[in-house]
Amino acid sequence: MQPFLGERFGNPSGLYSTGREAQAALDAARGTVARCLGARPAEIIFTSGGTESINSAMLGIAYAMRRAGCGDHIITTSIEHHAGIHAAQMLEELGFEVTYLPCDHSGHVKVDELARALRPETVLASVMLANNEVGSLQPLTQISEVIQSWAKRHGGHRVMLHTDAVQAPGWLPIDVGALGVDALSLSSHKFGGPKGSGVLYLRRATPYRPLLHGGGQEMQKRAGTENVAGIVGTATALDLASREIDARSARVGQLRAYLRQGILERVPDVLVNGCQVNCLPNNLNISFRGLESEALVAALDNHGIAVSSGSACSNSTWEPSHVLMAMGVPIRQAVGSIRFSLGETTTAADIDTVLDVLPPAVARLRTSATIAAAGTVEPA
Ligand code: PLP
Repeated sequence: MQPFLGERFGNPSGLYSTGREAQAALDAARGTVARCLGARPAEIIFTSGGTESINSAMLGIAYAMRRAGCGDHIITTSIEHHAGIHAAQMLEELGFEVTYLPCDHSGHVKVDELARALRPETVLASVMLANNEVGSLQPLTQISEVIQSWAKRHGGHRVMLHTDAVQAPGWLPIDVGALGVDALSLSSHKFGGPKGSGVLYLRRATPYRPLLHGGGQEMQKRAGTENVAGIVGTATALDLASREIDARSARVGQLRAYLRQGILERVPDVLVNGCQVNCLPNNLNISFRGLESEALVAALDNHGIAVSSGSACSNSTWEPSHVLMAMGVPIRQAVGSIRFSLGETTTAADIDTVLDVLPPAVARLRTSATIAAAGTVEPA
């Protein structure tokens, strides 16, 4: 990325040599991303991140489909990231009808629920590939098959399928053909790339109306001067993340199991949220009874351990996680839940540090909570 922030600072739209150089870097990056996803370069649009990709896909496809007279109903799930949930709510404001599919106790959406939700007015289904809070994987390939066979039985009526695949790179192979999706969203910083960069895959001939209007960049699908350094970083990071996925997942999955086992052995009254089989290998969501997760986040941070309570993106709000609520986790359990995210560079020694620090921190916070609840603490 460095040269594109310095001596190679040309604007890809410029006809001068540094501009052409930047355009060549963009073309190369598009080719790399397309190869990693099993797509064509013309199907790759660079964006400012997962949120923009998801909003563009959902609003852009739904709007174009309705304009074409295909209908005004969309299907999504109750466990999407807020980027998806809030985009769906925006569509409701714009007059669309939205079905929010429930999930089971382990955080999985049922294919037959989706099949039942399909109607002649349905134009879009948006289902995430891997959940960011509990790591559950959703059955995208089966969902695509159900939609296609439903479409055949209904005179070829098209229902577009979008997936928020933000959590998947590096842990799962992503092939847009195998998944059977028309659109797919990625966020670069989730796979080692820069923050504020993302990818939208839009299958050729997918009805789409851009969200951003202006110049003709990104094949008329996303106006605005391109973030060349971010795009170059995105492509390199995705290329690296797409290699040795099995080995990385196996190694990190073992560390996750070690962490989970260690916590269950050393800390009483804990519950693991979500299933531990059909899920990402790097995510562990645990509820600690009798404390509030924000206090535990702060206590662990004092030891240099960075964990998340609920969805990181909603840390400024007080609401319990909508994902845990949708899974039927009782609210008292949900408020004490922590998400541990392991990475490629996490070591067994890191896990040992967590296992040393966590039990006394939990015990201390539980004692404080009990004292406060008993009302024995005098106001200052
Ligand atoms: N979707 C999922 C599943 C995520 O985990 C996130 C970020 O945490 C997003 C979307 C939003 O991505 P970004 O913050 O890059 O806009």
